[in-house]
Amino acid sequence: MPELPEVETIKRDIEKNLIGKKILDVWTDSPKQVQPNIDGFKKETVGKKFKDVKRRAKILIFHLEDGTPIIAHLKLSGRLLYRNQTDKADAFTRIIIKLGEGKEIRFADLRRFGWIRLLKDDANLKEFLDEFGIEPFTPDFTLENFKKIVSSKPTKIKPLIMDQKQVAGVGNIYSDESLWCAKIHPERSAKSLSSDEIKKLYDCILEALKQGIADRGTSVDQYVDLQGQKGKHEQNLQIFRKNGQPCPRCGTIIKKIRVGGRGTHLCPNCQKSRGVLDHKFTF
Ligand SMILES: [Zn+2]
Repeated sequence: MPELPEVETIKRDIEKNLIGKKILDVWTDSPKQVQPNIDGFKKETVGKKFKDVKRRAKILIFHLEDGTPIIAHLKLSGRLLYRNQTDKADAFTRIIIKLGEGKEIRFADLRRFGWIRLLKDDANLKEFLDEFGIEPFTPDFTLENFKKIVSSKPTKIKPLIMDQKQVAGVGNIYSDESLWCAKIHPERSAKSLSSDEIKKLYDCILEALKQGIADRGTSVDQYVDLQGQKGKHEQNLQIFRKNGQPCPRCGTIIKKIRVGGRGTHLCPNCQKSRGVLDHKFTF
């Protein structure tokens, strides 16, 4: 699933290409992915220009020129592609937003979990976005606030930092990378972390996300940018999907386990299992 760095890359590309473009038509062959429904969506969007785009967590937020908000989630395999209307078809295109100047946005989605949703107004938008936790790279993401989230919870640390209601935008890739960087076992109880470990994890999360953005995302699965190009961060991953290979820090063979139902990569030497929850059930 695209995480903060991937969605941020797309958002920046949209900013450069889409703002000021007028919506001429909307098409779909996958009606459930256009919400509330295709007719309502077309009625409120056709003839209007895109005014701005933002990102919150893994969500893209558009405003049209009259203030109408639209949100989009790529979920597991969604791709947003900016194409000329004459360009060859993209596989699994589910939605097309035809724009002026011969351009169009294609929403391609192999697994059909992604969606694009028209909202009524900004109050509606706020209600939706209030569900999310603190957003990295904003003034709210202080060490103090991060400590409050981590230090009181009796849950495993990896699912906690992936919980969008706690920390927004971190998913499977960047949580594995951050925990390896901070030398913390993904199954450690969050409240067992020392103050130094929390500080290290905080720094590592920001660094992992920052590098991901600098590399225009990670394309281990379906993710591509707005032009259909893969991200370059895969070559800079330290641990994610490296099971069977030596840890870049100590040479111990990297293991894959399951934590909260998610494939999880760790170095058994750098990330000691001391204090983990349910250890015996997961190896
Ligand atoms: Zn190691």
